[in-house]
Amino acid sequence: APEETQRSGVLGRLFTKGGEAEELRRPLDDDMLQDLEDLLISADMGVETAARVTANLAEGRFGKRVSSREIKQLLAAEISRIMDPVARPLPLYAKKPQVVLVVGVNGAGKTTTIGKLASQFNAAGKKVVIAACDTFRAAAVEQLQVWGDRAGVPVLTAPQGSDPASLAFDAQKRAEEEGADLLMIDTAGRLQNRADLMEELAKIVRVIRKRDETAPHNTILVLDATTGQNAVNQVEIFQKLADVSGLVMTKLDGTARGGVLVALADQFGLPIHAIGVGEQIDDLAPFDPEEFAAALTG
Ligand code: GDP
Repeated sequence: APEETQRSGVLGRLFTKGGEAEELRRPLDDDMLQDLEDLLISADMGVETAARVTANLAEGRFGKRVSSREIKQLLAAEISRIMDPVARPLPLYAKKPQVVLVVGVNGAGKTTTIGKLASQFNAAGKKVVIAACDTFRAAAVEQLQVWGDRAGVPVLTAPQGSDPASLAFDAQKRAEEEGADLLMIDTAGRLQNRADLMEELAKIVRVIRKRDETAPHNTILVLDATTGQNAVNQVEIFQKLADVSGLVMTKLDGTARGGVLVALADQFGLPIHAIGVGEQIDDLAPFDPEEFAAALTG
């Protein structure tokens, strides 16, 4: 089934046309490299990154006989090499409260990710406060409250339509007073009106800097892996809207091919703090480059 082929990694399809054994060696020629590049593109790696990865793999090996097993190993090593530097959990600072701004388009998984992170920090003995600064969407605020309850973390809210920046200010003050380690701020994700969103995010930042000029200490962009190459555009857009310092990629548990993570690492080099692997509170995992490379190359 096509589904199984996808899950077994992109290279499941390479060389298998004639049912060849993994050990069979063939010369590494243009045809083989083109097949490889096409497979990487079909795994969401993007044209540029797929071409670069293929070229790196071919370097010094062109015309030599290789088996599909060796190609897989080389490819996995190449992917690990690109991904190793970006696999970095959210850094924790001594600063109290550490202010973590969470941005991303609606539906990417911001609310869920904040709930999961809050739960992990809470379990690690950190005191967390959440601010529901997407005050425009009542449903988002309610969802965040549900996650806050699950994580055992207070969620500060304001009436629908009220100023997100003034809620952020109040939440920061409260987090200071309570000696919280972390303040996580959910934000709006309406890309329909980018100028408004930019102003809204900028105002939140201005206001929290009044209390702490080093804040926000992190700005996490949450991306949905099922949007494939679209995630690349979202990084470009959000880098203009906010000072993105790291990424969380959600929905890697589904049919997403995940190659876009390689494209992101290759093109932006932003840290990947964690990956979402399900809808439950514990479904947030550290990003593991070797495991990821093995899964992608199958
Ligand atoms: P927000 O609009 O960015 O706050 O997005 P939500 O946190 O509300 O998430 C949107 C949908 O994606 C919800 O149905 C979540 O359950 C789902 N979701 C979020 N993260 C993951 C994940 O890692 N895996 C899966 N399968 N679903 C996820």
